[in-house]
Amino acid sequence: MRTGTQKHSKNVLVVGGGASGLIAAIAAARQGAKVTLIEKNRQAGKKLLMTGNGRCNFTNKNQELRYYRSSNPELIGPVLEAFPMEETVAFFEELGILVKDRGGYLYPNSGQAASIAGVLRLEVQRLSIKEAYNTEVLAVGKQKGYFQAECEGWTYEGDALVLACGSKAAPAAGASGDGYRFARSFGHTVVRPLPALTGLYASEKDCKTLAGVRTDARVTLLTDGKVCAVEEGEVQFASYGLSGIPVFQISRFASRTLDEGGTCEVRLDVCPALTGQKLLQILSEENRRKHTDMRKNTDILLGMFPEKLSQVLLGRAGISGKKKGQEWTREELERLVGQMKELTFQITGSRGYEQAQVCTGGVPLKELKGISMESAAIPGLYLAGELLDVDGACGGYNLQWAWSSGYLAGIHAAGGSR
Ligand SMILES: Cc1cc2nc3c(=O)[nH]c(=O)nc-3n(C[C@H](O)[C@H](O)[C@H](O)COP(=O)(O)OP(=O)(O)OC[C@H]3O[C@@H](n4cnc5c(N)ncnc54)[C@H](O)[C@@H]3O)c2cc1C
Repeated sequence: MRTGTQKHSKNVLVVGGGASGLIAAIAAARQGAKVTLIEKNRQAGKKLLMTGNGRCNFTNKNQELRYYRSSNPELIGPVLEAFPMEETVAFFEELGILVKDRGGYLYPNSGQAASIAGVLRLEVQRLSIKEAYNTEVLAVGKQKGYFQAECEGWTYEGDALVLACGSKAAPAAGASGDGYRFARSFGHTVVRPLPALTGLYASEKDCKTLAGVRTDARVTLLTDGKVCAVEEGEVQFASYGLSGIPVFQISRFASRTLDEGGTCEVRLDVCPALTGQKLLQILSEENRRKHTDMRKNTDILLGMFPEKLSQVLLGRAGISGKKKGQEWTREELERLVGQMKELTFQITGSRGYEQAQVCTGGVPLKELKGISMESAAIPGLYLAGELLDVDGACGGYNLQWAWSSGYLAGIHAAGGSR
């Protein structure tokens, strides 16, 4: 049931009007706090509009903890239990969102991310939260028991301060990394933020040939020669390297390894449904070899892969020129199958913050007082969302983290508890 504004008890400042800041402000105001939401963009929720390709995959029914990553993940489970997916759904349904379930991935039925941002903004207005938009916070501090958020020409004061400034990912939506600076100014540490859920640069020249090709693949990331992560899905090749959801999913590991001076290699199995043995059998079939009599050597792979991918597979297998069906040796076919099962790319970097959906890294969860999201060092300071050292997989997990952590920060900042 929607709670109205009760007697004002606390003055709560929320810095950052993204997903976590909006829900923190709403939760605090519903507790009866007098809330000021400070956002440097002209409107709150700008990044929300970009989410899920404009459709906003706002949570996921499958809430296994393995979809959330952190350098000290112990607090993630308790936070997600204290404001779980079911409660997130109920929260949005109450605000008017009709939920569409696409295989467990939840979206607003309108198919528009603007609906999620819209209902949050309406609730902010209904609760008479002070909207200080177009207002950049330059510095934060605490003096004589009160928090200050210093802006150009004005300083806001409050009994409690929620930092919900997000990360450095997607600067077009307002991300600046200011939150890290603010947290540090209170004595917090920051696990070095790096781009995640993004494409990866590869050094192989044949990426240019492959640009634009999409294919289903099993993607194995090897860091310093050891298997680090395995994902399956549609890989999109680009002139710079590799993209697509399975590549996004492994990118946080690649970012961190490369930043620490390690090596990264991606191996693609472009035919994961079939064993190497089976592929060899298919390529050896009389019928398939007939195709190659007079035409291009890629004809042996006709119907199996996009033409450009076939060219690269053959090139990497060292098979060039026209070949008649009978001229394929067993060794050549084995080399070709080898490439299908392990098409390898040396990863040289991840695409920058501009292209990243989130950052890995942030303020460590161990610096918080449990699910209150309150700073262990500074009473009255609360942290939420992507500013913290938690990054989720693609699929609604980053927003669920923003909703859960933001809601808890807001409730506790206002003097309530869970
Ligand atoms: C293209 C794209 C698609 C995505 N799709 C999905 C998806 O479908 N599902 C999903 O779960 N996640 C998705 N994400 C990730 C998700 O959007 C974020 O994890 C989430 O929005 C983080 O919320 P937040 O409140 O922590 O930060 P943000 O939403 O980034 O909000 C932080 C806010 O703080 C403001 N701010 C920063 N510094 C200051 C300052 N100094 N003064 C005042 N204001 C300041 C910023 O302007 C910003 O509005 C996507 C991200 C991108 C970029």
